[in-house]
Amino acid sequence: MKRQKQLYEGKAKIIYSTDDPDLVIQYFKDDATAFDGLKKGTLVDKGVINNHVSTKIFQHLEENGVATHFVERLNDREMLVKSLEIIPVEVVFRNVAAGSLCKRLGIEEAKLLAPPIQEFFLKDDPLHDPMINESHIKTFEWATETEVAFLKTSGSKVNQLLTDFFKARGIRLVDFKLEYGRHKGEVLLGDEISPDGCRLWDWKTGEKMDKDRFRFDLGSVEEKYQEVYKLVCGDG
Ligand code: UDP
Repeated sequence: MKRQKQLYEGKAKIIYSTDDPDLVIQYFKDDATAFDGLKKGTLVDKGVINNHVSTKIFQHLEENGVATHFVERLNDREMLVKSLEIIPVEVVFRNVAAGSLCKRLGIEEAKLLAPPIQEFFLKDDPLHDPMINESHIKTFEWATETEVAFLKTSGSKVNQLLTDFFKARGIRLVDFKLEYGRHKGEVLLGDEISPDGCRLWDWKTGEKMDKDRFRFDLGSVEEKYQEVYKLVCGDG
């Protein structure tokens, strides 16, 4: 499968059409952004790592009954996926307090969250991805009631599967963001699942192994992404 026209360029990926109208190619770039694009940088081989890590995770989710857009990894930087009509809602799950939750509610970082917290944000860069609730989603028709119910149950299942998946590899899944889209009447998990969109802490030391290292200039960003890559993909 070869890429044809560029359809869209985002902050970390480019989407290309293919000769099959139902399939597109996600190309993973090394560009990194944070704080709504205010901080920009390049991380050596981030695209390669995120493509491989996402592949492994999508395969794990598919094996456990979660329908995703993943078809196959084509090479180091390209993934063949089903084309989606993106639902403009980011679904966030939090198992441990971090990031915007701490800022917004004054919660101390690292507090265990039981049961896990689930939040929705509107996918809208100019508006800085504001937090929304089910009532907004329904009234503004960003998704139907049935779809919202599906996002919650599917997201919760993904949280359980990924918490166990990372724990088995010595990593604590602190929080993460999911995106879903419609494909031929079905809602599928889309985008990528990588250290760009998950907070991952070393289970023993608590050391951050994700994009927070880039966001807050913690150093060793590429090294920590490589470590996640080895822990996730190292078993073949
Ligand atoms: N996240 C993301 N893209 C976004 C916003 C958040 O991938 O546009 C991820 C982020 O990496 C973290 C989780 O969602 O794993 C929760 O993010 P949070 O709301 O704490 O926002 P942040 O502090 O990252 O701005």
